[in-house]
Amino acid sequence: AAKRHARGQHVFFEPGQQQDLLEQQFLQHQLAQAVQENLLEVYYQPILDAQTGVIRKAEALLRWKHPNRGFISPAVFIPLAEESGLIHPMGRWVCETVMQQLKTWDAQGLPEVAVSINLSARQFVQPGTIQNLLEQLERHNLDASRIIVEITESVFMQDHGVVEEQLSLLEEAGVKIALDDFGTGYSSLSYLTRFNPHYIKIDRSFVQQLDSQNTSTIMEAIISMGHHLNKEVVAEGVETPGQQEWLQSRNCQYLQGYLFSRPIPAEAFADLLKDPPDG
Ligand code: C2E
Ligand code: MG
Ligand code: MG
Ligand code: MG
Repeated sequence: AAKRHARGQHVFFEPGQQQDLLEQQFLQHQLAQAVQENLLEVYYQPILDAQTGVIRKAEALLRWKHPNRGFISPAVFIPLAEESGLIHPMGRWVCETVMQQLKTWDAQGLPEVAVSINLSARQFVQPGTIQNLLEQLERHNLDASRIIVEITESVFMQDHGVVEEQLSLLEEAGVKIALDDFGTGYSSLSYLTRFNPHYIKIDRSFVQQLDSQNTSTIMEAIISMGHHLNKEVVAEGVETPGQQEWLQSRNCQYLQGYLFSRPIPAEAFADLLKDPPDG
């Protein structure tokens, strides 16, 4: 096993499809094991009220700490998990973990936050995903407003009937939707009217190019459109005070980014809630 392991590590950095495939299968196998051995962790990144700086929400972001490779990006392992179907038990585990965490923070008397959970397109249309989330909410006796579901435009490439069914289940239960990575897909504008998300999360690629005249014009248009459509706008990837000020002055409602905090473990997040930094 040690030999296989060493080889796996080696091929990770080499090009070539054959090796990529081996590497993928190897990682996939390790990921399955990591799930069983509880080696995944949910991190939380604060989302602040742009005007007051108060932490109102958090985004739950999955972390896999590999025993010898360190943190592996979800951008790498989520697609692997989707391919193997592991994404479904993983997703249930994320929801369960987040809800238990909310109950723990409540019991500690911390200020109430809502947590947004990412669901990939495959997860979203998988029968049972939404139902399970709603059952978990009920079992934990949590108000539907405590969970937000983040989806990307790729969801709308799926069967529209199925998507609409899942959306209406969430809507009936009172769980709000955030349209993530807004602006990076194709037909964002038509999806806004057809699927009626409560939040628009502007992709960080826009936020990070605010010093370009074209980008800032587009950003202004997105924020203003969001306001007119009665949506709340969240900017992700805020890294500088300049970006923060720009977004505040345009009345973007929520800010998220390294300027305030990276995604952090639950205990560290609780500390932030208890003792918010000045500013
Ligand atoms: P996302 O949902 O768009 O999450 C935001 C990503 O931006 C996170 O990357 C976060 O760490 C990063 N980020 C936040 N603020 C900043 C900033 O100021 N600067 C920069 N450079 N980056 C910032 P992360 O944690 O690596 O996650 C990547 C993607 O993996 C997520 O993108 C999401 O699509 C997916 N993902 C993560 N956790 C889950 C999960 O539990 N389930 C599913 N289905 N997907 C997940
Ligand atoms: Mg997200
Ligand atoms: Mg995003
Ligand atoms: Mg993203």
